[in-house]
Amino acid sequence: MSKKITKIDVLVIGGGLAGGTLSLALAGGGLSVACVDREDPKGWTAPTFDGRASAIAISSKRVLDAVGIWDIIENETAPIKDIRVADGHSPLFLHYDHSELGGEPFGFMVENRSIRKALQMLLPAKKKIKHFAPAEVSELVRDENQVSATLNDGSKITASLVIGCEGRISPTRESAGIKLTQWSYNQTAIVCTVEHERPHNFCAQEHFLPSGPFAILPLPGTAKKPGQRSSIVWTERSDLAPIMMDLDDDDFLEELQMRFGDFLGELKIIGPRFAYPLTLQFAESYTADRLALVADAAHGMHPIAGQGLNMGLRDVAVLAEVLSDAKKSGLDIGSAEVLEKYERWRRFDNTLMLAVTDVLTHLFSNDIKPIKLARDIGLGAVNQIPPLKKLFMRHAMGTVGELPKLMRGENL
Ligand SMILES: Cc1cc2nc3c(=O)[nH]c(=O)nc-3n(C[C@H](O)[C@H](O)[C@H](O)COP(=O)(O)OP(=O)(O)OC[C@H]3O[C@@H](n4cnc5c(N)ncnc54)[C@H](O)[C@@H]3O)c2cc1C
Repeated sequence: MSKKITKIDVLVIGGGLAGGTLSLALAGGGLSVACVDREDPKGWTAPTFDGRASAIAISSKRVLDAVGIWDIIENETAPIKDIRVADGHSPLFLHYDHSELGGEPFGFMVENRSIRKALQMLLPAKKKIKHFAPAEVSELVRDENQVSATLNDGSKITASLVIGCEGRISPTRESAGIKLTQWSYNQTAIVCTVEHERPHNFCAQEHFLPSGPFAILPLPGTAKKPGQRSSIVWTERSDLAPIMMDLDDDDFLEELQMRFGDFLGELKIIGPRFAYPLTLQFAESYTADRLALVADAAHGMHPIAGQGLNMGLRDVAVLAEVLSDAKKSGLDIGSAEVLEKYERWRRFDNTLMLAVTDVLTHLFSNDIKPIKLARDIGLGAVNQIPPLKKLFMRHAMGTVGELPKLMRGENL
């Protein structure tokens, strides 16, 4: 027997951090959504699923708040009160203190698993969302008037617009023939979680080592050991990363402690290690006929500034606003006129962030003496120039630029 056709406004393919949040934001803005993810949500919270934690800027926190995710994860987040950036063990460093800018934290650290847990609870519960997971789109046809999709279980969906949110490898982007520019940094991020003897005092630290940045990011601790857990992002040369990943626990800990230093006392690794090869990539266009790309499907950057998801959530907030406004005005939400507004609003900001992270990665991933001297002087100088320092701090909070409603704390 043939399956019933589900008719909705928007088909979101990829219901991860960006796609899941987008589905909730669209539903909140009055649109009906089908959200398809190939992974089984039951596995989303397993310790082996995704070992990363994300630095969520204040503006991104407002988006998570608006869609109901924040209420669920709040107790699993740690505020970032200070940021300390140092060039290796150079005495010149940059120190951002949240009290210099009104006392609000710069943002919050949260494990990706926590956000996934909230999505796992919210997506199936919303009336305006049909959640298909695990499921994949086996056929996607876009014509002048609509998008038609068939899922691998035979379900059929028609929509006015399809949005690709599958992350860096996006079949939606590929199906539209949108070109991708991409290069590798020959670096791999080794990610793990550690417990330490002394509390981190909610300070995020980044040291620039010759192989790339090494970040120590504060996580909430346990009741017995508050403030004694951190997420590590250790950037290593891609030819050395597999060797580090294969070390036994004692040798791995020794290598880690050498890079980490001893300012938080003795370390203990908790949970598995993960490796993420690092590339930069950007799509030639964020839209095509009845199609839009969001977050990593449109742009993927180096995690040096912890901005990939934050930029993705800006895409989410802008697209949800543009589509919700279009629907309220009786416009065709899949029309070129509506999609162009999204592309215009987001392209410059994302391209600028891609360029900044690319320059920083090249500047800080080497040990060439004159470059090292210049960047040490640069870090020290920024630390001494209050207006420049304040501007950088506002960037870290994500409150610079033309913010969409959800990032200003307003409803759609
Ligand atoms: C080491 C590291 C540290 C980082 N730290 C930070 C940070 O501190 N702050 C920050 O802002 N960003 C950070 N990022 C970037 C951030 O993790 C990404 O930008 C973010 O995960 C992108 O979200 P996404 O939803 O676009 O993609 P993903 O998180 O990759 O999700 C894609 C989803 O699509 C699904 N999917 C894939 N293919 C299909 C398909 N064919 N059909 C259906 N579903 C599919 C997947 O199952 C998944 O659920 C970091 C990245 C790395 C590598």
